[in-house]
Amino acid sequence: MAHQHSEPALSVFDIFKIGIGPSSSHTLGPWRAALRFLSSLQQTGRLPIVRKVQVLLYGSLAKTGRGHGTDVAVMLGLCGEDPVTFPVENINPTLEALSRDQQMVLGKSAPIAFDPAADVVFLMDESLPFHPNALTFLAQLENGEELAETYYSVGGGFVVKEGEGGRDVNGPDLPFPIADARELLHWCRKTGLPISEIVAENELAWRPEAETAAGVLQIWHTMRDCVYRGCHISGILPGGLNVIRRASDLSKKLISGRTYTDFDSWVAAIREGGSGFKYTLDWVSAFALAVNEENASFSRVVTAPTNGAAGVIPAVLLYYIVFCDGYQDESILRFLYNASEIGSIFKKGATISAAMGGCQAEIGVSSAMAASALTECLGGSARQCQMAAEIAMEHHLGLTCDPVAGLVQVPCIERNTMGAIKAITAAQLALQSNPDHARVSLDNVVETMWETALDMNAKYKETAEGGLAVNIPLGLKEC
Ligand code: SF4
Repeated sequence: MAHQHSEPALSVFDIFKIGIGPSSSHTLGPWRAALRFLSSLQQTGRLPIVRKVQVLLYGSLAKTGRGHGTDVAVMLGLCGEDPVTFPVENINPTLEALSRDQQMVLGKSAPIAFDPAADVVFLMDESLPFHPNALTFLAQLENGEELAETYYSVGGGFVVKEGEGGRDVNGPDLPFPIADARELLHWCRKTGLPISEIVAENELAWRPEAETAAGVLQIWHTMRDCVYRGCHISGILPGGLNVIRRASDLSKKLISGRTYTDFDSWVAAIREGGSGFKYTLDWVSAFALAVNEENASFSRVVTAPTNGAAGVIPAVLLYYIVFCDGYQDESILRFLYNASEIGSIFKKGATISAAMGGCQAEIGVSSAMAASALTECLGGSARQCQMAAEIAMEHHLGLTCDPVAGLVQVPCIERNTMGAIKAITAAQLALQSNPDHARVSLDNVVETMWETALDMNAKYKETAEGGLAVNIPLGLKEC
């Protein structure tokens, strides 16, 4: 397996990406890979002369690809649809039309014969050495030429093309280059700036401040809408496990008849209910469940840093907004900037791919990100932020990925509630502690997570071949 060290600079928009559920590595990544394949066909002038396309899915993409919607993602990508803007309600009609017509309009301009059942091939027993999430696009051209391009979906929606040295993005030179937690702390100490402002300064290397702020607020609005939607839709999740959505019933019970008309009045109505421990805890769970029930329904979510773990950061951010009076744009920006830097540190020093490191790489990282962000927003120093991130990851080390039936539902949805509450506990512990007395640094825990990832048995790395995935699949189907 390739190590994720020596990454180029990462922007806040590399960590938080708007897309469609249920999986950043198995849905968003393959979708983006298909778009890159299309763009390579376009750039070389070959798109109009393509006659046939096939997609080969390897390793974890084959083993859990059906449950994670990998086939859906590559087909929509090949159609030229954008995961950020494609209306989620059009997914099923588009797939039905593909199956019915046995035809695809490649890149919205080149009609080709395409049979979804035969042209997306799940190679269950094959994997490529660079990364477990590999896919190859094969194209036959009118002139007899045959093309093959292989991509790797390396976690969090990041994609690298074979032969590109494992890099998805080429960043600019930053005023504050950060490879690890120690370097981040160095810049915070040297400048006196909090983590969020170091990030904001670095983002200026990509684009003007106002553009970054507008983009990050769009990320927040997508998270907010996802929580709100998820708290108002009941029913059964797709995929055959018959998992019942719980966020809606829970939030209805908690709101207890208080009226509201939109998100803002909903926040006010939640606050009117008080701030007792059990009430607050239940709301944090409702927020997290809502996002991941939406994620499991192929709805619009934000990778944070992945789709499977997309509920942790919105849940902790909503906790801060609703129960800690943090409802201002500046506070929301501070939260997300800070969180993104912690996610980058884990991506650079370890991994954010469950296929590489199990669920510690998803829920563990999201919990560490949220813990640090909440700590800064509640007045903690940069060292306390790092302490909070370290505590949150320390207690996720070794967490395996074992999605039942290959769906991002069990244990994934509830696991986001656990990641959120651990993040809040970690932030509180750090805020009440003197970092001088911390025995484990954030870099220590990043390194430990990576070593644990290397030692973890492959069956616990998003293959649905171990843990809950093999012990209880049939029982759940009967729920
Ligand atoms: S078990 Fe964790 S890592 Fe695996 S799919 Fe679910 S949330 Fe993602």
